[in-house]
Amino acid sequence: MKYISTRGAALALGFEDVVLTGLATDGGLYVPETLPEFSHAEIASWAGLGYRDLAFKVISPFVAGAIPDADLKRIIDSSYDTFRHQAIAPLVQTGHNEWVLELFQGPTLAFKDFALQFLGNLLDYILAKRQQKVVVLGATSGDTGSAAIEGCRRCENVDIFILHPYQRVSEVQRRQMTSVLEPNVHNIALQGNFDDCQNLVKASFSDQSFLPAGRQLVAVNSINWARIMAQIVYYFYAGLALGAPHRPVAFSVPTGNFGDIFAGYLAKRMGLPIDQLVIATNSNDILHRCISSNDHTKKPLQHSLSPSMDIMVSSNFERMLFDLYDRDGAQINSLMNEFKNSGALHLAPAALDKARALFSSYRLSDEETVAVIKDVYENTEYLLDPHTAIGVQAARKTRRDTSTPMICLATAHPAKFPEAVKQAVAEGDPALPHHMRDLLARDERYQVLANDLSSLKSFISSNIRA
Ligand SMILES: *Cc1c(COP(=O)(O)O)cnc(C)c1O
Repeated sequence: MKYISTRGAALALGFEDVVLTGLATDGGLYVPETLPEFSHAEIASWAGLGYRDLAFKVISPFVAGAIPDADLKRIIDSSYDTFRHQAIAPLVQTGHNEWVLELFQGPTLAFKDFALQFLGNLLDYILAKRQQKVVVLGATSGDTGSAAIEGCRRCENVDIFILHPYQRVSEVQRRQMTSVLEPNVHNIALQGNFDDCQNLVKASFSDQSFLPAGRQLVAVNSINWARIMAQIVYYFYAGLALGAPHRPVAFSVPTGNFGDIFAGYLAKRMGLPIDQLVIATNSNDILHRCISSNDHTKKPLQHSLSPSMDIMVSSNFERMLFDLYDRDGAQINSLMNEFKNSGALHLAPAALDKARALFSSYRLSDEETVAVIKDVYENTEYLLDPHTAIGVQAARKTRRDTSTPMICLATAHPAKFPEAVKQAVAEGDPALPHHMRDLLARDERYQVLANDLSSLKSFISSNIRA
């Protein structure tokens, strides 16, 4: 399988190189040259498979030729051993033909574990084979950092450095990162805000001469193709559990960078009968505005009760645009340049029609989010986290056919975002799951650094393992 850039001008890469690469050299994102498609009969034959076996079926065509089957199986199996629930991605019913898919049973209580547990193991495997070591560097305002650290803590060939804004992440989120004490894990509390963290990371990627010979930086943010790929699996898993491919299913997805819902779109293209895909956003609603009124205009960031969806521009949407414009890389290149210069992007009529045929969309305010958590709790005694609540309500508002099962992706455990939950439900201070009860008492290790590129570079180069 070859991977090509959405902007049409970069070299095509094989699977392993794509895993180690962030942006393509032309500024685009990598996508598979052709998408594997499964027949109705083949998908039907997967009914009853466990999560790991199903993951192998879905993922192996993307890896074809690059990794032997037995090795890929081992990588997949160990990636989901760290999940607390035997089903890996259990379904819970919350209404008539309405389901919540709990994607928070992994080590950091958010869906990012599905991709990052797998990516960590995959990186270590590829690097061992190549006798190479890399440095993973990233910035986080919360969920991504802890999931990346959990994914890499056991990697022999990876040193990981994660920047978070000093004293500006919640205590649970900080401790999920800083209580990981393996010698290859380095948390940096930067004296600045999240943008400062991102700027230093970008500057480090653009000049890597501070690294020892033979080392390179690797990004594990949501533009990494392997993350998207791993997320396709749970769409098939939930769909099969509720009767697909013999009947259609629908999904509602709390959306930030468009990684998760893009995986849902791919599942549909690969043969899963998905009737409806709902883009659910908070007040950072660029995607909702794009679908509903062709207004993909960058607006200032709003801080919401669902912080993991507080983003101004969805980086993975470029992958969607590539398909909406019939994979014309030159056109995507000029569209993205126009967007960069003007802050606005308007879809051509044909592309807009296609987007509207594929996606419904809905936006929720913080007040509405709190009201949904309360309503669902009062009716079912089930506690939603604020991100998931946005997906549930978007599903209820846009649903076309109540005879089709609606599956709302639960992207985080409510204990991760107690502020919103407590506003909704008086007695609802959600407890951390058992294995994390002592989180607030665990030892921490992190380094406070000034907002300064040379301090960061010297900290990294002096802490890389030989
Ligand atoms: C990252 C995240 C999202 C957004 O996912 P995207 O793939 O960026 O659209 C939603 N909810 C939670 C809890 C997250 O951590």
